[in-house]
Amino acid sequence: MIVVYAVDALEYRLVEEFNCINLKQEFYGKTDISEFSEPRTMVLWSSFMTGKNKEEEILAKGDKEMWNTRIGVEETFFSLFDDPLILDLPGFNYEKEQHDKERVILKKFFDTDGKEAKEAVRKEYNSLSFEHHRKIKGEFKTALKEDHDFVLGYFSVADVIGHLNFGNRTLMKMIYSDLDEIASGIDGDLIVLSDHGMEKIGIFGDHSNHGFWSTNFRDLIRPKITDFYGLFEEFEDRQYRK
Ligand SMILES: [Zn+2]
Repeated sequence: MIVVYAVDALEYRLVEEFNCINLKQEFYGKTDISEFSEPRTMVLWSSFMTGKNKEEEILAKGDKEMWNTRIGVEETFFSLFDDPLILDLPGFNYEKEQHDKERVILKKFFDTDGKEAKEAVRKEYNSLSFEHHRKIKGEFKTALKEDHDFVLGYFSVADVIGHLNFGNRTLMKMIYSDLDEIASGIDGDLIVLSDHGMEKIGIFGDHSNHGFWSTNFRDLIRPKITDFYGLFEEFEDRQYRK
């Protein structure tokens, strides 16, 4: 089984600082996303799964419509596999309703006045994200026990919670430790990948201009997010030759 553990906004610097050994695996580093004008989640994951820079195409849809992107499986490297399972990936089969709810509450946070009222909205926002995280975590663990030749699980919690709380080190440490635990004990070839990282803006977080990668089988040096398509083609060739 080949597994991609896709973690939105997993920041290289924090993985190092908190020494998340399961996320780091044997080989790890930063991805090169300098070909993109900005580190946008939808653009980066769409480019990852197709092996093509999708920035122009996605941005042409506009800020709102962009989130409705659904790339067909035949345009992605998932089609190289016999029985792939993809969980909640933006640009493919993301639960848009969840994303919309998060955006509404995020906006409410910035529209709300008063410290206490704001904190109540922050709580509501965080618990919405954690609840979704627990659900995906359960589905991912189940999928890993099944008979798929490829599993991808996408986790948004570091990004969603990070936007409002990245300056809260205790909370971020707790999230990274949970993400690290998810990466432990996975059988097969494992790739951990983030689209972009995150940097601290006071208590908040904004996307940083590098992603994170790790594998338990090969040093990828400093891959572009569009390079992974070729890596999966290689995997499939190898499988075919067996
Ligand atoms: Zn984000």
